Amino acid sequence: MTRKIAILGATGSIGKSTLDLLERSPDRFAVTAVTAATNVEALADIARRTGARLAVVADERRYEDLAELLAGTDCRAAAGEGALVEAATSDADLVIAAIVGCAGLPPVIAAVEAGRTVALANKEALVTAGALMIDAAAASGATLLPIDSEHNAIFQCLAGSRAQDVSKIILTASGGPFRTASAETIHAATPAQAVAHPNWTMGAKISVDSATLMNKGLELIEAHYLFGLPSGQLDVVIHPQSVIHSMVEFVDGSVLAQLGSPDMRIPIAYALAWPERMPTPAQRLDLVAISRLDFEEPDLQRFPALRLAREALEHGAAAPIVLNAANEVAVAAFLDGTIPFAEIAALVQEALNSAAYDAPRSIGDVLEIDRVTRRRTRSMMEASCS
Ligand code: NAD
Ligand code: MG
Repeated sequence: MTRKIAILGATGSIGKSTLDLLERSPDRFAVTAVTAATNVEALADIARRTGARLAVVADERRYEDLAELLAGTDCRAAAGEGALVEAATSDADLVIAAIVGCAGLPPVIAAVEAGRTVALANKEALVTAGALMIDAAAASGATLLPIDSEHNAIFQCLAGSRAQDVSKIILTASGGPFRTASAETIHAATPAQAVAHPNWTMGAKISVDSATLMNKGLELIEAHYLFGLPSGQLDVVIHPQSVIHSMVEFVDGSVLAQLGSPDMRIPIAYALAWPERMPTPAQRLDLVAISRLDFEEPDLQRFPALRLAREALEHGAAAPIVLNAANEVAVAAFLDGTIPFAEIAALVQEALNSAAYDAPRSIGDVLEIDRVTRRRTRSMMEASCS
């Protein structure tokens, strides 16, 4: 039976890796809906190639161009947030959530509320609305399958075990491009250096997050919501080879790890075929060639973002939303050359220090706290630049 797939964020790094797998197994999958932020040329090309029936561009100003590019096909063009929600709740068996940032939250939560199976790459949606999303999934019967490689590894290691038998989760981190760099070098890092990840090729925002270690911080929060463990049972260890994608320690002292080459097609394939498996062209591990696996303690002095994220997780309430929103604004400003690298964590710290919000009771609350924090972070940036 073919499995119907909707891809939110089809033009991005995760979107492309997903399409690569789907196009290798055309008998097994059918793409129903695809979305993108603004790039209508790439989106229309994907829609034509896959035979999707719905293509959505988030930016409404690009609607006419998309409609023109799709003229004469069976694919309907649509635009805006309502249409993203439509793509997320269409008749797909599996929704690939691969939009970057909190912008992905409205369609993701709509899919969860509609009881869909959601393969989640869009960690910011879970970081900002984790408790609401887990509750919504429990109420609707939706299934969340993690695509983020660490969480996918943990999901694989947990298969078949009881929650009370888990003593802790150990998230691995490559350490990013500045793992061995001095504080001075890190301070002066350029966007080109920050996005040059040693082991993975990814979108610009997550690449910068990997360089600051904010990515691992977001993943701590993501793991907390997905697997229901408190901060004290979530460890982070630097593992430069990115061969072990994460581990689970059980009460008897056993530790299970998932290993593989650093290729996102492996965790994506796991979600696509779940509960079965499917072949991928990912390179096989050659343990003899790798020969050794190293582990280090993360350095919270040089990488304060990881400390900030753990503090936000432990503080709870709206702190993860503020952390994420300030980080999104700061990373965008770093990428366009407005602020230096070290200012990213400084702005996040300042946003957290000056924020006081109650825990969100609805997705509307989450989006409002996100919006206000973005505005505040931009004014903090203007104040410090002038
Ligand atoms: P990317 O920047 O390459 O792609 C992002 C996608 O989202 C694009 O299709 C883009 O058009 C769309 N998009 C961006 N802003 C949007 C908006 N405002 N509204 C609607 N659509 C929008 O990013 P990516 O690297 O593919 O990452 C996607 C998500 O997956 C992120 O949350 C990231 O943290 C997570 N993730 C990525 C990787 C990876 O290897 N790339 C690994 C683990 C987790
Ligand atoms: Mg990850």
